[in-house]
Parts: sequence; C-alpha cells; structure tokens
Amino acid sequence: MNSDLISHLLIQAEKLCQQRSLRLTPQRVEVLRLIAEQKRAIGAYELLDLLQLKDPHAKPPTIYRALNFWLEQGFIHKIESINSYIMCHHIEHSCHTSALFVCDQCGQVEEHHVIGIENILHTLANNSHFKLKHSVIETHGICIACQHIQQA
Ligand SMILES: [Zn+2]
Ligand SMILES: [Zn+2]
Repeated sequence: MNSDLISHLLIQAEKLCQQRSLRLTPQRVEVLRLIAEQKRAIGAYELLDLLQLKDPHAKPPTIYRALNFWLEQGFIHKIESINSYIMCHHIEHSCHTSALFVCDQCGQVEEHHVIGIENILHTLANNSHFKLKHSVIETHGICIACQHIQQA
C-alpha cells in the first residue's frame, strides 16, 4: 500500500472510531498502521517485533488486544489458513463479505468485495435466523506476478 492510501485508511479508521465512540489508544493506531504498511499478510509475532522497535515494552497481549479490537471493527481481516492479518480495503462497509486470494508462492493477499456471494450468505443466514456479522472466504492459488515468474 502506498503512503497516501495508508494515511487515507488511517484517517477513515479514526473517523469511524469516533462515530462508534470507541477509544483509540496510540498502540492500537500503531498496530493498524503497521498492518497497513505491509505488502502482504503479517503474523502477530512479526507485528510484535515491529511494534517493539517503537515501544520496547510491548508484549504479546498488547498485540492480541489491538488485533481483536480491529478485527471486531472489521478494519483488518484474519487469514486463518496462514494465521496472519491484512488491512481491509473496504472499512466503510462494516458488514461485508470479502474473498481473499492468497498467493501460495509469495504470500501476497488480494481482497475482493463480493456482492453475489454476500447475497447468498444473507439469504442463508436469514433462513436459519443467524445474525451475520462478517464472513471471509479464503482462496489459495498463484498470483499473476508469480505465474509470470513460473513461465519465464
Ligand atoms: Zn474487507
Ligand atoms: Zn505470488
């Protein structure tokens, strides 16, 4: 993500937190910024290493509290299969279904907002009286850049 996009997303996140009357601690903001700066998904311990460069007293619970906070707000997504986190690109939609395309070669993750699947899930959830909050669809494959490397 380029720095303009990162600051845009951080400002948006701050605004949404104000609207939802949520308390933003400097550590939470820093964790979100670190996730946004990554080119690919990042694990909790990698994040802790980065956070400790600024705040040597940061401990695993610091990271997990921040991660849970942002996950709950839908600002980041957890990719269960690789146990890592990425910034959400559609934070203005608090309830959305995203398809995450995970490249098995370089680890890059692309998020796509999928309306069709979302409608199907909402119908299914309504039918079972299930209150849907958010869903993530993880797909694995090989990104276009890695496909070109393979062909070369
Ligand atoms: Zn998203
Ligand atoms: Zn790739």
